[in-house]
Amino acid sequence: MADLSGKTVLITAAGQGIGRASALAFAQAGATVHATDIDAAALDDLRADNVSAALLDVRDAAAVKALVARIGAVDILFNCAGVVHGGTILEMPDTDLDVAFDLNVRAMIRTIRAVLPGMVERRDGAIINMASVASSVKGVPNRFAYGVTKAAVIGLTKAVAADYVAHNIRCNAICPGTVESPSLQARIRAQGDYEQTRAAFIARQPIGRLGTPEEIADLAVYLAGATYTTGQAVVVDGGWTI
Ligand code: NAD
Repeated sequence: MADLSGKTVLITAAGQGIGRASALAFAQAGATVHATDIDAAALDDLRADNVSAALLDVRDAAAVKALVARIGAVDILFNCAGVVHGGTILEMPDTDLDVAFDLNVRAMIRTIRAVLPGMVERRDGAIINMASVASSVKGVPNRFAYGVTKAAVIGLTKAVAADYVAHNIRCNAICPGTVESPSLQARIRAQGDYEQTRAAFIARQPIGRLGTPEEIADLAVYLAGATYTTGQAVVVDGGWTI
């Protein structure tokens, strides 16, 4: 595991799932972690050495700016917040697409704009953006808004990487397959037949199981320390896209 001692990390959506596992993994790698979310109760429960929790709604530009100003130098930004909407292009309400763009894409632009000037000044920084294989790298039915916005995450990642590589700032995206998290559990329950839906989610991962948040967190920590890797959309999907 990378040694991130002396590094300060800002993570969005760290209350549960991949974000939470990442907060703990970054702390274990020696970093000072600012774990943020809109869920106060989930943050309350996230207590570990080197982890401080703060409420942050990534849809609120002023709050993002204020938090980054309070933290000071952010060396590593992990944009983990995201939302999944169901529906095809014909079924999906425009409001879902607006919310998906705001939370999955624009929020990343907000946080990157807040931390990037400091990174440029220090000529050092790592940005990790949460994309997905679902509907962006690989077509998946009934995930129109998700696919459009997660594909945009890959685009914005490559654009930032290209613009700032000469400033020694790296920007990479993570594209997971299906990962066991509270929101995945909710999506499975919402389908009605829990066991059948869960089996169908597992069946699409050739490795024979769902991913764990910790497996994705390990990749985030790796990318934070991968000093020769930038502009990549790194797939971690149990073989879904083989
Ligand atoms: P999750 O969906 O279970 O939890 C999401 C967290 O985001 C919650 O703690 C919630 O309070 C927080 N959140 C919601 N709105 C917010 C806002 N406006 N500002 C800040 N925080 C907010 O977690 P997960 O399933 O691990 O997903 C995390 C990320 O990984 C998402 O971007 C998701 O799209 C992506 N992803 C997940 C999977 C999966 O199968 N779970 C697969 C691929 C990609």
